[in-house]
Amino acid sequence: MVSLTIDGNVVQAEERTPLIKIAEKLGIRIPTLCYHPALEPYGTCRLCTVEVVKKGRARLVTACNYPAEEGIVVHTKSERVIKARKLIIELLLSRCSKAKVIQELAEEYGVKEPRFGEGDEDCILCGLCVRVCSEIVGANAISFTSRGIDREVSTPFHIASEECIGCGACAYLCPTDAIKLEDIKGTRKIERWDTSRPLQRCSICGNYFAPVAQLEYIKNRLNLPEEIFQNCPNCRRKSYAEQVAALGHI
Ligand code: SF4
Repeated sequence: MVSLTIDGNVVQAEERTPLIKIAEKLGIRIPTLCYHPALEPYGTCRLCTVEVVKKGRARLVTACNYPAEEGIVVHTKSERVIKARKLIIELLLSRCSKAKVIQELAEEYGVKEPRFGEGDEDCILCGLCVRVCSEIVGANAISFTSRGIDREVSTPFHIASEECIGCGACAYLCPTDAIKLEDIKGTRKIERWDTSRPLQRCSICGNYFAPVAQLEYIKNRLNLPEEIFQNCPNCRRKSYAEQVAALGHI
């Protein structure tokens, strides 16, 4: 364990715990767009910038991947931190000014007239979609391509990827809502990845409930009861409840 100070609070933490996790436990909110506790930190949006004083020297670091160290003093709202975050928000606006989450941050930090203009991209290149697809789903269907101003996230060669199982994890985590997912007439469509996947119907109620490819993917990896792949969560819950109720009558 190490002892450190965050915004005047002296805390003990496991060595190397990311500062953002310690701050969260203290109820200190640090803004971020690219961090998720279940994924490897990436430190790309830089919104979680905080000031760390170590051996008398202060510097700006990203709280999502800066590890707890003995004796450091962390400021999450110093003048220098706020100035850095405002600059980052201006840069984000210059790329994605229409994204609600960025507009809200601009409002919160009083960024009214961004100096670098207002762009109309929808992706901030936070990489959450790429990381969830690789680290959690394990499909590796999307990745970063190109460099510099052409850098983007896409499927290989910009064509529908065979690897995509249509699970939608990328869409659920996208902070700017850039990945649109629609379930229409028995098909899941993810326009950004040019992907269409048929949905499985529940054998009880007949409603579509998950992409067939996703169910096959899980089936091949986990030894789960067949009904998980045939029946929707609602019908499964109902069926369990009925079974439990029937036991009560024995
Ligand atoms: S929907 Fe496709 S691209 Fe998105 S996380 Fe799932 S497998 Fe990856």
